[in-house]
Amino acid sequence: MEITAESVWNNCLNFIKDNIQPQAYKTWFEPIQAVKLSGNALSIQVPSKFFYEWLEEHYVKILKVALTKELGKDAKLVYVIRMENTYGNKQPFTEKIPSANRTAVKSQEVDVPFNNKSPELKNPFIIPGIRNVKIESQLNPSYTFENFLEGDSNRLARNAGIAVANKPGGTSFNPLLIFGGVGLGKTHLAHAIGVDIKDKYPEKTVLYISAEKFTQQYIDSVKKNNRNDFIHFYQIIDVLIIDDVQFLSGKTGTQDVFFHIFNHLHQNGKQVVLTSDKAPVDMQDIEQRLLSRFKWGLSAELQTPDFETRVSILKNKLYRDGVEMPDDIVEYVAKHIKTNVRELEGAIISLIAQSSFNKKEITLNLAKDIVDKFVKNTKREVSIDYIQKVVSDYFQMDVSTLQSKTRKRHIVQARQLAMFFAKKYTKASLASIGSQIGQRDHATVLHACKTVDNLSSTDKQFRKYVEDLAKKLSL
Ligand code: ADP
Ligand code: MG
Repeated sequence: MEITAESVWNNCLNFIKDNIQPQAYKTWFEPIQAVKLSGNALSIQVPSKFFYEWLEEHYVKILKVALTKELGKDAKLVYVIRMENTYGNKQPFTEKIPSANRTAVKSQEVDVPFNNKSPELKNPFIIPGIRNVKIESQLNPSYTFENFLEGDSNRLARNAGIAVANKPGGTSFNPLLIFGGVGLGKTHLAHAIGVDIKDKYPEKTVLYISAEKFTQQYIDSVKKNNRNDFIHFYQIIDVLIIDDVQFLSGKTGTQDVFFHIFNHLHQNGKQVVLTSDKAPVDMQDIEQRLLSRFKWGLSAELQTPDFETRVSILKNKLYRDGVEMPDDIVEYVAKHIKTNVRELEGAIISLIAQSSFNKKEITLNLAKDIVDKFVKNTKREVSIDYIQKVVSDYFQMDVSTLQSKTRKRHIVQARQLAMFFAKKYTKASLASIGSQIGQRDHATVLHACKTVDNLSSTDKQFRKYVEDLAKKLSL
């Protein structure tokens, strides 16, 4: 049989496959293509510089053994880096590394040329190092599976998360989409998956990022003209966790780039984890092709926890904080705060604080006072009247001015912000928001939401308004 680059490489692969973990084989060897055999030098094509560095760092020994078996002791390995550019530019450019200036190679036989001029990865998360490209995971280690209490409301999502963490990219839960209302644990679970993967597979590149930050980075990269670096950076991640993808609604540019990154990762067996405050069917202004990708894997809902789960979440929190509290008080709080775990925890924290500041005993009456405040606050938070009041106060105008027919720019903006937050924080329909904010129709409200989205990604001052108001409204 004729000896070709492919046949040599296939033999090497068979040997390597028997000697390393299946997941590592899949990740690091399957994407490689043998491209040329000349004499005793085999050229293999790798997807990126990062990839090449990784092979060099972790698999140089086994590569050497495999290749020596095939081509004798003078075997040489030449890397060809394929700068895959799945975005826009269809023409991949192939870069041959001159074999002269090689450095830092442990073995004589495996000739690994090193090109200092290859493109550097530019991204805020990369910490420059000598050879290692390190990416900060942005994970919060205090969010773990262990302290995410299981109940009927979250069993599917939690267990799917655990399955993904055991075999990132290796289950049919790819992407894993966790969705559910505010304060039900989406962010916690998303971090827990990442934290557990980092624990089990320290060599994997895991990245947690909010969709909002992702969008901002993308916009910056367009401004600075390094969109390709942005895309390339995301394409080398093994486990990409994006929180609150509903934020991408209406942002077509960012959706577009995410679509390409997603496809690349998915095709390469990388894991994608997403969270959203809505089920895919209810997501508005997200491109169809992206929505259909979201549904490829598993969508798991976090529902409001039942009473028993709420009690165990509270008891666990108290236990971790070393605080003792009578059962009837814990149960009282769990009974009255039902829809949001963050508020549940908030009530317990205020209760502890109140009692220690005022040197009061924690009594059922104190608990009642605090729970009352929480429940009232919650009601106030979701009313459109309250939103109009907060926005008007912020811009120092009367609610009647905000509702008036005037077209003065700052008043229009305030009105649009009120509509935007009403859409975001209440369940009211566009039509009902419109009728409550100065008798407008649903199209006006829709237009307002889009305008606020657009302005907050292009106008710094405006973004500050949105952030300030979001803070005021989310207390
Ligand atoms: P979301 O992202 O859905 O708005 P978070 O993940 O921020 O919600 O959760 C809100 C708070 O509730 C966090 O402090 C989180 O630790 C806590 N929490 C939510 N669900 C659970 C649970 N099942 N067990 C323990 N803590 C939980
Ligand atoms: Mg969250």
